[in-house]
Amino acid sequence: MTSVSKRFIAGAVCPACSEMDKLRMWSVDGVPHRECVACGYADTLDERGNAVAVRELATRVNAAKPKAASPQVQTVQFFPNPKLKK
Ligand SMILES: [Zn+2]
Repeated sequence: MTSVSKRFIAGAVCPACSEMDKLRMWSVDGVPHRECVACGYADTLDERGNAVAVRELATRVNAAKPKAASPQVQTVQFFPNPKLKK
């Protein structure tokens, strides 16, 4: 009898659609599986701990959506130091 309980991973970001808190995680025979409820991406870990995609997206969502305005990115302003002027 196997009961699989899927838990959301707090703060986890989907590698496919970059949505946060959309990943669920569960184990099958001790092997961790992940699944994104936002885009349907799913992966698992092999014996070396590498993520292996088990369900790729048919259409890549992030390819059609350019990341133009990302509020996470901070603009670094460079002000030339006048004292360094010769
Ligand atoms: Zn996703």
